[in-house]
Amino acid sequence: MQKLKSAEEIEMIRENNLLVSSTLAEVGKMIQPGVTTAALDKRAEEYIRDHGAEPGFLGYGGFPNSLCTSVNDAVVHGIPSDYELKEGDIISIDCGTYKNGFYGDTAYTFSVGAIDKEVEKLLRATKEALFKGIEKAVAGNRVGDISFAVQSHAEGAGFSVVREMVGHGLGSSMHESPEVPNYGKRGRGPKLKPGLVICVEPMINLGTRNIKQDPDGWTIRTMDNKPSAHYELALAIRNGEADILSTFEYIENQLSTEN
Ligand code: MG
Ligand code: MG
Repeated sequence: MQKLKSAEEIEMIRENNLLVSSTLAEVGKMIQPGVTTAALDKRAEEYIRDHGAEPGFLGYGGFPNSLCTSVNDAVVHGIPSDYELKEGDIISIDCGTYKNGFYGDTAYTFSVGAIDKEVEKLLRATKEALFKGIEKAVAGNRVGDISFAVQSHAEGAGFSVVREMVGHGLGSSMHESPEVPNYGKRGRGPKLKPGLVICVEPMINLGTRNIKQDPDGWTIRTMDNKPSAHYELALAIRNGEADILSTFEYIENQLSTEN
């Protein structure tokens, strides 16, 4: 069942997602060759707690950290470690917060220094696919309209769509109904109603769409070990265009001052 949110509840979910967005910008500042994914996680946890929230992922289903840090062929759910980032890596960072009874959930794929042209294209196409999906996230449409838009853009750019993991409703639980797959058919699936809050989060692979899980029980990797990208935003459904509750602006303003 879809839990529709009041205007007040949407503002609390926005507050969480803006905090996640600024946490991602904060750890984004640290990304350079030699930094460990554990160091990023430590900073994220401090930053979230300093802002009066709890890390949303820490302990969620037994997850051991505040960030999912998924490097190169890792798709999602990578566990922070003493791995040192190196020039040419990409790192997908997924972060959540919990404050005032609601969750935030947003993700961004960063590059470490200069990356391959093909991988740059993967990142761009994945982010574009997310926004193509969001364009269809309006009241009266169906989940399949979002799914189809994401899939068409990603596959049209020559990449493949992970199917086993999907976007979701967001609110007083991290994962609520409906599921929001990144593949599907127009006009299918649950109808989108005003007040529904969802996360759209394409996971797009350079090679095969197939995935495997590491023995750590968390990290999901591409079967062919080629790179994967992941971007996620939370949004509220309205009549007309969606109200996007997270932002990449904090991250991208930060990145552009570095260059
Ligand atoms: Mg997420
Ligand atoms: Mg999510």
